[in-house]
Amino acid sequence: MKRTTCLFDCLLVDALIDQPQKGHPLIGMCMTMTISFKELGLAQPLLQATEALGYTQATPVQEKVIPAAISGGDWMVSSQTGSGKTAAFLLPLLNQLIAANPNGKPVPGRAEPQVLVLCPTRELAQQVSADAINLVKFARGIRIATIMGGMPYGKQISQIKGANLVVATPGRLLDLSNSRAIRLDKVKCMIVDEADRMLDLGFQDDIEAIHELCSDRGQTLMFSATFAPRIMQLATSLMNNPGRIELASAHDKHENIAQTLHWADSVAHKHKLLSHWLSDPTMEQAVVFASTQADSETIADSLRADGHEATALHGAMPQAVRNRRLQSLRKGQTRILVATDVAARGIDVPTITHVINFGLPMKAEDYVHRIGRTGRAGRSGVAITLAEHRDRSKIRAIEQYTQQPLQAEVIPGLEPSEKSRKPSHRPGSGRPGRSFGGKGASNASNRHGQGQGEGKTFKQNHFAKPSGPKFAGSGKPSSGPKFGGSGKPSSGQKRTFA
Ligand code: AMP
Repeated sequence: MKRTTCLFDCLLVDALIDQPQKGHPLIGMCMTMTISFKELGLAQPLLQATEALGYTQATPVQEKVIPAAISGGDWMVSSQTGSGKTAAFLLPLLNQLIAANPNGKPVPGRAEPQVLVLCPTRELAQQVSADAINLVKFARGIRIATIMGGMPYGKQISQIKGANLVVATPGRLLDLSNSRAIRLDKVKCMIVDEADRMLDLGFQDDIEAIHELCSDRGQTLMFSATFAPRIMQLATSLMNNPGRIELASAHDKHENIAQTLHWADSVAHKHKLLSHWLSDPTMEQAVVFASTQADSETIADSLRADGHEATALHGAMPQAVRNRRLQSLRKGQTRILVATDVAARGIDVPTITHVINFGLPMKAEDYVHRIGRTGRAGRSGVAITLAEHRDRSKIRAIEQYTQQPLQAEVIPGLEPSEKSRKPSHRPGSGRPGRSFGGKGASNASNRHGQGQGEGKTFKQNHFAKPSGPKFAGSGKPSSGPKFGGSGKPSSGQKRTFA
């Protein structure tokens, strides 16, 4: 792998230091530099675009991924949600497209993209496309197209003609390829975004089929929240001796997001806690997560009945409706979005101040993605989790996954009953937990300088950093553990989750 500039040499030196095995560079947290986009050697139109977007310097993931991707070869990247990872892969690839067409000649109208970005969800595909369109605003001869299910075929088929960069969800891309509406044999670089989610959604076979259709490509980049064994397995089948760039993990603290847990006695109690938080004067926009599609509708209905501007979003809605609702959120017209995990990734709306987990996620790692909808691009955010007594094992799994205790708090007048006040961790397990009764409750009050019944001052400290201790011992889960047992809903009811 050839690295030419001084910056790339510097990367190589660090990479060799952390090289776990021959030919497998690993670039880690140790090398933090502050670099402008100009220093990264990007073409002028991209520098203009980053400036217009207000990006003054590269984020850590961009500092590492841009030079690595430009230098060539396959790379696996793990990075935190909201870290700027989309621009980290778009910028070097757009740079290559600009270099291949320096005079910005109009592209021939063939459906033969050179860059292919695969996304697990339609929402993420739309977000990535929107970012790409913003980044090529000042470039000529580059066209972006989006391929995803739920949209009319005809429009997509005409859009992909002449597109050099295609962002796609796997199923619809294969449909179009099978009907010869698109050829993938000219693809030079394929990016698999959110690879962990791809596997969760059962896209492994589709990705492998797409991999075969563009097997002559020279580069593959894969982004994932973790490098769990199943991700490594996928990497082995798609990539050629990939380098690893490991920036952050689920265990990072999300210090800009104040995370709080409220124990509740019942769904009705959770509704009261939700209502309390939605009336918070610092709340600009909120995403309330529900466990099922039906729950998202019910919660949105009940919020509207209480006079809140709330709307639901879930995977069973027609794509046009999902698009309209997301657009309305982006424009600030929707104040409260009640969503399933379909909204847990890819929604990038900086004005979301609060994420409220009304229903807990199926998998602990989804907690991290959910809370990442707030505190975007360096802002502060608030993440509230409402849990019932029966959710204890899920809360433990989240704490284990993030290796941070969730701070349990009480809202004066909305305290849980004695049953829910039991410690959230088994005594003697060696893991710190907070209890509501006795000491725990007084700690919560002390931290906010108020006793019971004085809820106003309680809320002034939302943006305080979580102060709880880290777990002792290694306890390092390599991938997101599923919740208790099978991870299936405990009620016998059939539930649809996204
Ligand atoms: P992502 O992790 O790709 O979802 O990006 C999160 C947010 O960071 C998006 O709103 C981007 O527009 C923003 N962003 C990306 N790169 C930069 C940068 N270099 N400086 C400031 N904001 C950025």
